[in-house]
Amino acid sequence: MGQLTLDTDVRYVKGVGPRRAQQLSDLGIRTVEDLLLHFPFRFDLRRQAQPIASLYGGEQTATIAGEVMVAEEHRFGRRPFFQVQLQDDTGWVLVKWFHGGYLSDKIKPGIHLAVSGKVGLYRKHLQLVNPQFQILWDPQGTRLDRDELMPVYPAGGKLTSVMIASIVKHVLPEAHRLIRRWFPGEYLEKRGLMSRPDAVEAMHRPEDTEHWAQARRRLVYDECLLMQLGIALVRMRQVSRPAHPLVNTPQIDRRIRARFPFTLTDAQNRAVAEIAADLGGDRPMNRLLQGDVGAGKTVVALYAALLAVACGKQAAVMAPTEILATQHFDKAHAYLAHSRVRLGLLVGGQSPAQRREILGKLAAGQIDIVIGTHALISEGVQFADLALVVVDEQHKFGVEQRTSFRQKGFAPHYLVMTATPIPRTLAMTVFGDLDTSVIDALPPGRGQTTTKCVSEEDWPKVIDFVRGQLAKGQQAYFIYPLVSPSGQLGLVAAEDAYRQLAGGPLNEFNTALIHGQMTAAKKDAVMAGFRSGKVQALVASVVVEVGLDVPSANVMVVRHAERFGLAQLHQLRGRIGRGRHDATCILVASPRTPGAKQRLAVLAETNDGFKVAEEDLRLRGPGQLFGTRQHGLPELKVADLVEDFELLRLARREAFAIVAEDPGLNAPHHQQLRREVIKAYAGKLKLLDGA
Ligand code: ADP
Ligand code: MG
Repeated sequence: MGQLTLDTDVRYVKGVGPRRAQQLSDLGIRTVEDLLLHFPFRFDLRRQAQPIASLYGGEQTATIAGEVMVAEEHRFGRRPFFQVQLQDDTGWVLVKWFHGGYLSDKIKPGIHLAVSGKVGLYRKHLQLVNPQFQILWDPQGTRLDRDELMPVYPAGGKLTSVMIASIVKHVLPEAHRLIRRWFPGEYLEKRGLMSRPDAVEAMHRPEDTEHWAQARRRLVYDECLLMQLGIALVRMRQVSRPAHPLVNTPQIDRRIRARFPFTLTDAQNRAVAEIAADLGGDRPMNRLLQGDVGAGKTVVALYAALLAVACGKQAAVMAPTEILATQHFDKAHAYLAHSRVRLGLLVGGQSPAQRREILGKLAAGQIDIVIGTHALISEGVQFADLALVVVDEQHKFGVEQRTSFRQKGFAPHYLVMTATPIPRTLAMTVFGDLDTSVIDALPPGRGQTTTKCVSEEDWPKVIDFVRGQLAKGQQAYFIYPLVSPSGQLGLVAAEDAYRQLAGGPLNEFNTALIHGQMTAAKKDAVMAGFRSGKVQALVASVVVEVGLDVPSANVMVVRHAERFGLAQLHQLRGRIGRGRHDATCILVASPRTPGAKQRLAVLAETNDGFKVAEEDLRLRGPGQLFGTRQHGLPELKVADLVEDFELLRLARREAFAIVAEDPGLNAPHHQQLRREVIKAYAGKLKLLDGA
């Protein structure tokens, strides 16, 4: 075996046999490079701590180490004290310092702490009083001491962090020789960044916290830069192709506006102006239209589609579900009654004959605006002259999907609509290739939506309230996280709830069930019943999550609300309060953790979707929220997009500057970046010809 390279299989690393190699591979570590880039996520004290479960509390002296879960100051009473709940993998104890108020600045939830002292019992709980302590790991950065520090690696299965540490030790001395430099020295100096080989080494074995923080900063920068280079290249390719200019005129504008039974709001007019300006150019528009549910995005999109038609071109509107596609279609149909605009609907549930007819007309240019689902990007869909694509409510369509829509040899203008306001972080990542317009005010004359959080015990009261509202002629949604019961979860599912409600408390009302597993025809029939007012209470799984528009429904009950994400709940309640009447949303939940309670409280406090989205992002992290992987962006290993926002912004600016200056990344000093971008993105985004 010769010298190690970055691509060397881990099984050739000293101390790694076939079994270890397999275990490493289960963690995604296959090469020497993977190993070098597998970083500790914290450092622990080398000194031996004993498991909390082994404490018995009686004149025992022990050293334990764990994470601070709760920290509270008890300031009043005869002997004020500061108390934390300390937890390791085996259990928890209380640790108390009398007159310890001064510690509250240092010891906070999230830090890792070692404490040594006598273990006693207090009201049946184990506790340590006034122990000595040392902070082991503070995410905000406290002093670390190198020799006392033990790296803790992400581990799994039979492979422990200690084993990984001993394997890494064999390759770490090679880091300097192996890890490539991405940038010339002066580039790094200007930005105060350490070299990449130094950074990789320091991530495993820092001198102290400051050293570790600097190393991390460098690797976060690299990750963000690479991602933004990928996005900048997508963006570059988008605008490098010509598009049909769709030029607006006062006559066209007047004709389009005459189609709507209301005047556009100022916010809508602003968005229309931005979109029309883009459409008039000979480069494709790539624009994100944000606006809370009910803000009137659909109308703006329709404006854009009609502008395309007025210029003799075709437009396609893509919705995430058949229900929504059908609803858009019906609306457009109503607006366009007695006009010459030819509409088409293309969804999965149509017969082969229907489908063939629509496809024929699209290819022949006999349909001007086609509205549909994913079916629009399936094999065999040909347009005669497509100039505009609108994608509605598209969290499911990421950078990757946008790329695939454009693979078909034309460069249409592109408008993406979303009702979940996008926090800045995501606007730069998942939607990083788009410009943005925001509709930040609702059309006039809307009622107010009030949100209440109640617990499961209040269910009878909730039912009474809804019965009262239904008796007054209102309509209500009942939302459930599951369609059918799923064993031990202890959740009421939509099907059961429907049977119980329809046969019990709601038996004098007309109740219906709708869920994602029903056929499109059945769903359509139920929706039609609800829209017409015949159905008064609609029991639903989350199929109603996006876009449904029934202005007379003003009550919503969400059962097991803790099972939903914040953004999702915000979307859901956007279904009500769409008419002139005030609306009530009741979140029924028994949140088990303070975090869950806090999450739901945000919704009761504000109707501002931006605040909800920021909070959701903060509480759950961007990966969870949008699944970056499914959006064609590689998983981030080091960066935390919320915490590292400033670096992300810097990296974005610089990546776009690099691509503007050297679109093919052909310059000699960009060769390493070019290789890295190809490795990370080539397969996903089909960047850089010949890659
Ligand atoms: P979004 O797509 O943003 O959720 P929609 O475009 O579906 O919102 O509009 C919500 C409702 O408001 C629809 O019933 C629509 O007809 C109505 N609406 C839209 N714009 C206006 C306006 N400028 N004035 C009055 N009503 C409007
Ligand atoms: Mg909509």
